[in-house]
Parts: sequence; C-alpha cells; structure tokens
Amino acid sequence: MTPLVIAHRGASGYLPESTLPAKALAVGQGADYVEHDVVMTRDNRLLINHDLWLDNVSDVAMRYPGRQRADGHYYVIDFDLDEILTLAVTERFTTVDGQQRPVFPDRFPLWQSNFGFHTLESELEFLRGVRHSLGRDVGIFSELKSPWFHEQEGRDLPSAVYDVLARYGYRTREDRCRVMSFDARALQRIRADIAPRVGVDLPLTQLIGHTEDHETFEQLPDGTWANYDYDWMLEHNSMEQVRTWADGIGPDLTMLVRQGTQPGSIAATDLADEAHAAGLYVTPWTVRVDQLPSCAPTVDALVTALVQECRVDGIITDFPDRVLRALGRS
Ligand code: CA
Repeated sequence: MTPLVIAHRGASGYLPESTLPAKALAVGQGADYVEHDVVMTRDNRLLINHDLWLDNVSDVAMRYPGRQRADGHYYVIDFDLDEILTLAVTERFTTVDGQQRPVFPDRFPLWQSNFGFHTLESELEFLRGVRHSLGRDVGIFSELKSPWFHEQEGRDLPSAVYDVLARYGYRTREDRCRVMSFDARALQRIRADIAPRVGVDLPLTQLIGHTEDHETFEQLPDGTWANYDYDWMLEHNSMEQVRTWADGIGPDLTMLVRQGTQPGSIAATDLADEAHAAGLYVTPWTVRVDQLPSCAPTVDALVTALVQECRVDGIITDFPDRVLRALGRS
C-alpha cells in the first residue's frame, strides 16, 4: 500500500506557507492532497493561516501598530478580512532583539516577491479550477485551528467551516476531504451534531499534540479553561476510545518512530499498530528535509520507516516532491 502524500500548508518547504503559490507548487509536484489551517476573522470570514495570529508571516505589526493583544500577538479574530487581505505575506520568521530571523534559513527568503492571504472559499475555488484545467482531483486535509479559542471568542468555527465545505461540494467520504483538529471536543461535536445537521459526512482526524505545548484548552464544569492532556492517547488501548469520534489519527511523527537497536536504524512504536487495530487510519506530520527527527539519518530513511514499519496511510510533508521520490512515485 502506498500512502497518500499531503502537502503541509502547500509545498511550504519552497514557498511561503499557506499561500496559493505554495498550493500551486504542491499540485505541480504531484501531491495527492493539500493541507491547510482555517481561522476566523473579526467579520466571521474564514482565513487560511496556520497561527491564530498574523505576526510571524506578515507585515501586520508594521501596518497596524497598537492592534496587538497583551501577549504581543496580532490576532486574526481582531481584524476584518479586508484589512488582512492588504497585508504582505512572507516566509515564517521570529523576531529576536528587534531583528527578524527566518525559522528555516534555507527556505524562500524573507520579504521577496509578492504573497498574500486568502480565504477558505478562495482555496476551494482554486482546487476546483485545477480539477477543471488539469483534470486532477487534488484533495484537502482541512484543519480547524483551535475551535476552543474561537469558542472563547464567541464563535463557532466548525459550523462555519462545514457550511463552506458543503457549499463547495465536499459532502461525502468520496469527496476527497478530511477534517482534522487537535480539539477532541470539537470533533465530538462535529460527529454528534454539526455533520448530521449540515448533511455532511467527512472523515475526521484526531490530531495528537504534546501536552506541554498547550495546543488545546478545554472548558471544565466550573467554567474555567484547562490545558488538554494528550498523554492518555499515547497509552495502550486508548485508540478504541478515539475511534468513537474519529476515523483516523494525526500524530507527530516522533510518536510513531524511534531509534532502532542497530546504529542508524529506525523502529516503530506501538501507536500505528494500535490505531490500525482499532480501525483508524494514520496520517503523521510533518516530514521536513530541514528538520528530521534525531532517529532519521535521511528523509528517505524516514519515509521508508513510516511506510514499512508503521504502514502509515498518508504522510504530511513540507516537501511533497521529496516524499514522492522516496516512495518511488516520481
Ligand atoms: Ca495544520
């Protein structure tokens, strides 16, 4: 079985993440699916952007000084779509001592050429257009970004995304769209309430994060919000429980592979086997040529281990061309 190749935020190893040019390159390189993240704007529009904020990939801090929150971030939810569409987008950076530094120095240079933000609708139109012009049905892995945060802001992100997906014809399991989230409660609500109400039945992927990353918060009965503890998902016999609301899992690939007994060899943890035994598909993130896990000497070795040792169903990667080549598909 050959796993699907899913371009993470597009071919983001080569062009600024999440942009339409990055998606176009992924299509051109032969990716089966493109992955994106969806967040909501102040005026309830759906934006393709990885972070809840705009400041690590755009000029928002220069264009809208003073609009940041106490934590220093310029949140998507605090801006209207019209404002966001005027921003310049670039390769991901951090700011250290007032200096911008690229997160991945060998990738596309900062502030070169012209890139911008776009909406979920625009991305779906793009893929529809490609289906017409290229005759290839490139699918989507659609990640709902922090539904819990949007709930805190009084918004219902999953319902809004489902309405748009349905409008663009993503309704059944044959429509090449999988919905992902780290937020288990949001997936449970989709399964029990939103999907039946909208008349959409798409596969759901439970993303598995690291508890210490504070990826997800959940509301407790007393109304307070607590960091969600993912550790239980990595214990034995947890997958049967996940199966009650999800069709697959999206773990960090370091949860699947580890150093083998021989020098340079890669072994599998039990997680992929347990997920498959529970009837779940396994689509790990993220294969990066410039950020390999310590157990993997090369990207080819990593891909081979994910296929042969873990029998993964899909590989989410910033470098779709390199994964396709490792799989012998190009
Ligand atoms: Ca994502």
